[in-house]
Amino acid sequence: MDSKEIGRIPPVCLITGASRGIGRAVAERFGKEGYELILISHREIKDLSGLPGRHCAGDAGDFNFMKSVFDEIDTLDVLINNAGVAYYGLLQDMEPEDWDRVIRTNLTALFNSCKLAIPKMLKKHAGKIINVSSVWGSAGASMECAYSASKGGVDTFTKALAKELAPSNIQVNAVAPGVIDTDMNAHLSPEEREMLISSIPAGRMGTPEEAAELIYTLSRAANYLTGQIVSLDGGWI
Ligand code: NAD
Repeated sequence: MDSKEIGRIPPVCLITGASRGIGRAVAERFGKEGYELILISHREIKDLSGLPGRHCAGDAGDFNFMKSVFDEIDTLDVLINNAGVAYYGLLQDMEPEDWDRVIRTNLTALFNSCKLAIPKMLKKHAGKIINVSSVWGSAGASMECAYSASKGGVDTFTKALAKELAPSNIQVNAVAPGVIDTDMNAHLSPEEREMLISSIPAGRMGTPEEAAELIYTLSRAANYLTGQIVSLDGGWI
């Protein structure tokens, strides 16, 4: 779906959590291909500086904020649900508000954006939805119960919505990264980082650009590819 295929009208892509890490790399990748971008950043518009497109600051887990963004969109070709937060700690020490924040950001945000995107995609009888999950969504990680549960939810949400939307020619897939070198892993000490890397067969963390490339590839994949969770983990899990 590039501008050559649909004449002079650029295709439109909305990305949540575009201010840094994987989301920023995805914005840069789609921007390079001539997409019109709608970029969502959690905190401030200035976090999106340097990126092309329309910038919106707000919480992807807040339905009313997302509705205000979608109300300004006529058409949408690609939706990338990337915004996410991690929480590391024992479940018994986790506060209810931390549980809510993880589930709201990592899972409820998908309900919000998909519910709002689907009518726009139905009008064109076409669309690609790509969710950013995690290998922990299927494997589960100690000290990351909420995160693992939220990403497990992303996986089954992806599979279920893919079935629901396949008759309407809208494809829903997910990428499940292992460890990608972003701020999400900035809390690791040099020793923890080395230990983690030594457990990855590829011998390194993935890059945000590699994740962005996979997401872009999925957005261009055959329409028969839907309901899939594609791992990107250097052979880790
Ligand atoms: P990051 O912390 O570098 O970036 C996260 C982005 O999400 C930021 O732009 C942040 O502003 C945004 N965000 C957070 N809460 C938000 C909210 N409520 N509303 C809107 N935006 C919000 O993290 P990252 O590593 O780039 O992670 C991106 C996605 O990849 C996440 O869904 C994460 O779970 C997933 N992931 C990352 C890794 C990894 O190792 N980095 C591994 C597996 C999955």
